[in-house]
Order: sequence, then structure tokens, then C-alpha cells
Amino acid sequence: MMKELLVATKNKGKVREIADLLSPCGIQVISLLDVENMPEIIEDGLTFRANAAKKAVVIAKHTGRLVMGEDSGLEVDALGGRPGVFSARYSGDDATDEKNNDKMLQELAGVPFEKRTARYRSAIALADKDTLVDVVEGACEGIITTERRGANGFGYDPLFYIPEHAKTFGELPLSVKQTMSHRANALRQFLKLLEKYLASA
Ligand code: IMP
Repeated sequence: MMKELLVATKNKGKVREIADLLSPCGIQVISLLDVENMPEIIEDGLTFRANAAKKAVVIAKHTGRLVMGEDSGLEVDALGGRPGVFSARYSGDDATDEKNNDKMLQELAGVPFEKRTARYRSAIALADKDTLVDVVEGACEGIITTERRGANGFGYDPLFYIPEHAKTFGELPLSVKQTMSHRANALRQFLKLLEKYLASA
């Protein structure tokens, strides 16, 4: 039986990656782009886990459905772990991927290659009706480049360099990002969690 999972996001890049990995497993992914009249989710958590859980629970309570909440971001070591949970809003209230990447390059101007280490983190929560089932996490290490490279992916991907491929996530095809990204790592654990939950529900 095809199981429907509502993903509590409007981010097209995230929806694409989540659907690409879950669809072959018999899970039909829909998102907040497909449903109307959803409550606003205030992302005020201090951790990715807290925000992921909040997204899942708010939408699950409102719809009575099986819901995934995903929260992710970039931690840059030279910036003391910023922007972290503020990655989407790094350049302000009117932030765009373009402006965020510009600000990142400016803040890291003059920082040498070996000190430009960073990691993406992703937390993924499962909630059903009014209950939080659990939260899983994934991470992916990389280096922030000194200029944009490639047009694939979204967010900070043109700046996120993977040494073992000598390319950024902006240059690598989605099929390669899906073998190693923070979200893919979290999604692999999420699948196990979901299968266990559905078997016991
Ligand atoms: P959220 O929607 O609050 O979880 O914001 C996550 C933000 O982190 C995105 O808007 C991007 O700026 C960044 N981010 C998270 N995952 C990725 C990724 O896979 N590639 C590029 N940027 C990402």
C-alpha cells in the first residue's frame, strides 16, 4: 500500500530531495505546497531537533496526518558555528539564497582554505496526529569556497565544497549529493523509524 507523508516545508529543494529518496520506498510525499490553510510555524527553537519537532507536531495536530518536519542549516567553524538554525534568515528578513551566499563570502573574506571548514546538519522528525514519534539527525562535512561554483542544489550548495569529489554540491549531480548529504543521511534513519512505526501502529 502507498503511504502518504506530509512534509512540513515549502522549500522546493528540500521537497525534491526528500521525494527522490522516499518515493522508491513506496511513500508518496506531499508538502505544504500541496495543501491550503496551514498554520504558520514559528521557528524559534535553539536546535535543529527542536525546530524539526515543532514543524512536525504543529502540522500533524492541525491535519491529523502522518507528518515529517525537517530543519537544517550550515555551521561554519570560522563563524563559531553560525549561521546554524538561522541559515535561511542569515542575511536578514528579506533573505534569499543569493544574499545569503554573498554574506557568507563577505564574512569569510581572507579566511584561509584550511580554516573554512563547515558542516550541514539536518534533523528530521516524525509526528502522527497529536504525537511526536521521534527525531533523527544527519550531518555532512565540507569546506566553504571563495566563489560560487555550479547551479545545482539550493541554498549554500554553490559554496559547499566536497574535497573527495573536488566539486561543490552546486556542481555535483543530485544523484551524488543523495549518497552523502546531511539530509540523505538523516533520511536513511528516518526510513527505518517510519517502517518500525508503521509496523507497530
Ligand atoms: P530551514 O527551512 O529553516 O530548515 O532552513 C534551512 C536553510 O539551510 C536553507 O534555507 C538553506 O539556506 C540551508 N540549507 C539546508 N540544507 C541545505 C542544502 O542541502 N543545501 C544548501 N543549503 C541548505
